[in-house]
Amino acid sequence: MSDALILVVEDDHELRAVVRRGLEEEGFAVSGVGTGREAMKRISEQAPDALVIDVGLPDADGRDLCQALRAQGMQSPVIFLTARDALTDRLAGFGAGGDDYLTKPFSFAELAARLRATLNRAGADGKVSAAGLRLDPTSHEAACGEHSVRLTPTEFRLLGALAAQAGRPVRRRDLVRTAWPDGAVVHDNTIDVYLARLRRKLRALPGAPAIATMHGIGYRLQ
Ligand code: CA
Repeated sequence: MSDALILVVEDDHELRAVVRRGLEEEGFAVSGVGTGREAMKRISEQAPDALVIDVGLPDADGRDLCQALRAQGMQSPVIFLTARDALTDRLAGFGAGGDDYLTKPFSFAELAARLRATLNRAGADGKVSAAGLRLDPTSHEAACGEHSVRLTPTEFRLLGALAAQAGRPVRRRDLVRTAWPDGAVVHDNTIDVYLARLRRKLRALPGAPAIATMHGIGYRLQ
């Protein structure tokens, strides 16, 4: 797929420039930003066909950025870039709505191949309705209309996972995968406590959707 627009979110200027050149040589149109905030702004102006997101951004976790975008209904594929030693980061990327990951350093041929593969897979999933919430990955705030509420990082990730699948049930184990580090032992009552707090915060946000329990299945934002 040539001329697909790729947004590269990477704070290392040198790496960003090199990735940009490399992908342009592979036939992609590339735009680049260095922070989560800039990425949110750029995407609101023009939706890219795919994103390459560094997990370690200066103002946000790249996975929280991805969740915020998914919560707004963005379905473009996302490839995360992670540091070599960040094994749990790599694994947790999938729970945050990423489609693939690459460990630094990587080759362009590989990045281009992964991008083509994810672009080919994209769009097969049907439309997910956005939840009417705006999630800010830099402040971990959830906003609805003019009101906003501050969430903890874990609450933010739980809400992101639910909002990315708004109207559809999300299983408990998928919530755990998204909101806690890989391998964390999370008891049922711990999730219940977090969900209770999150529900309270959503109730304080006029017009916000609610989290419904679907017994034996999971949870649904509606
Ligand atoms: Ca970085």
